[in-house]
Amino acid sequence: PKPDQDAPIRMRTYTLSECSPAERARLLKRPVLNSDAMIAKVRPIVDAVRTGGDAALMKLVAQFDRCTVLKDTPILRAPFPELSDTELDPEVRKAIDVAYANVRTFHAAQAETTALRVETMPGVVCSRFARPIARVGLYVPGGTAILPSTALMLGVPAQVAGCQEVVLATPPRADGSISPEVMYCAKLVGASAILRAGGAQAVAAMAYGTETVPKVDKIFGPGNQWVTAAKMLVQNDTDALVSIDMPAGPSEVLVIADETCNPAFVASDLLSQAEHGVDSQVVLVAVNLPEHTISAIEAEVDAQARALPRVDIMRESIPKSIIVKTTSVQEAFSFSNDYAPEHLILHLADAPSTVALVQNAGSVFVGPYSPESCGDYASGTNHTLPTNGYARQFSGVNTQSFQKHITSQEITASGLKNVGPVVATLADCEGLGAHANAVRIRLRTLQ
Ligand code: NAD
Repeated sequence: PKPDQDAPIRMRTYTLSECSPAERARLLKRPVLNSDAMIAKVRPIVDAVRTGGDAALMKLVAQFDRCTVLKDTPILRAPFPELSDTELDPEVRKAIDVAYANVRTFHAAQAETTALRVETMPGVVCSRFARPIARVGLYVPGGTAILPSTALMLGVPAQVAGCQEVVLATPPRADGSISPEVMYCAKLVGASAILRAGGAQAVAAMAYGTETVPKVDKIFGPGNQWVTAAKMLVQNDTDALVSIDMPAGPSEVLVIADETCNPAFVASDLLSQAEHGVDSQVVLVAVNLPEHTISAIEAEVDAQARALPRVDIMRESIPKSIIVKTTSVQEAFSFSNDYAPEHLILHLADAPSTVALVQNAGSVFVGPYSPESCGDYASGTNHTLPTNGYARQFSGVNTQSFQKHITSQEITASGLKNVGPVVATLADCEGLGAHANAVRIRLRTLQ
């Protein structure tokens, strides 16, 4: 049934100290993703592309991306056409340029250009250096909205890491074109090809390659459950030999606020996440908030939501969202660190000093003038971040996500005299005589 239009748009409230361990665990949970069922559904699509190549891919583009005008291949190779001011709004172009510059500046600073070199024993030098992943695939969702920001967030680190083949995949429009905003971003980040396909078929084409689609080594990007399930499937296929950025789920925010907060700002941050989808996760952790401040935030959530274009989504996502009352900053961060939010926003007195308490989060927004929206679009940080509690062990997409590390060692003759006897002893201990021999044969020549 459709939610009642007159009912207040309200979150549910809990007092953390009154929750049983089971209730606390429930508050930390996200909606379950039925990944086994989805993988079973995408398998035939992935298999069709793997075995049928371009012909199968074109059929699936017609069927699921609803684009029937493309002929033999969905691939466009660079250079891509220039866009006139009638095609791309000059204001949008300027905004993309500034966002690109900021994201590029922050991600270029992350690139590892010099090797790490450590002498562990005299004459024993160990090094580590980074090299770009040669071929990458960037999935830019395009089913319900155009997302040029995602093209920038994935394309810029690929560009500054120096990846050679950068395939940007996105569902085409009915006339076979892609949005000028995404095209402009593809040009800025130096993509080498655009794959006009979406969903599981796009992921499969990049994982295995077809006659015209280049096979890639790693696939990045958010997407709906078809895209996510296909990424999980191909990363487990040793024939594909492809990796993925991270497991993805519905987007989330956790806001920690104390009495110094501006209720209107807090509500705006909660809603900017709640508009993503009906499954979006929105959590407010209140630190000793007086009742009148909680009421003020609730009133702002309701009033701002009603004035926003995506109010119908918020009518479903906000009632699933929670307010968790806590009595100290420590208790608030203990809950937040257990939740491991994708986005963490701090509306706290002296917010910068509390960053030291953050153990698990995708990206942190510090103080009243750092809305999540800035990180989503233009401040410089990446918006492709771990959801569903994976911030415990995953980082968001960054320049190193597009590089791999190679180690090396160089041992001098005197270095071998230092480390060799240790190696021979350990090799003997493991019964690997050839290993020990490779050291002793050299040490004998040095006597
Ligand atoms: P999408 O590009 O991910 O998926 C659209 C494609 O899905 C279609 O073109 C089609 O190929 C395929 N598809 C749809 N229904 C299908 C069916 N019944 N059978 C087979 N294939 C089917 O675009 P979307 O659907 O708009 O989803 C975008 C998703 O990305 C949203 O869930 C959004 O929340 C997420 N997103 C997340 C972030 C993030 O950083 N976390 C950023 C942007 C978008």
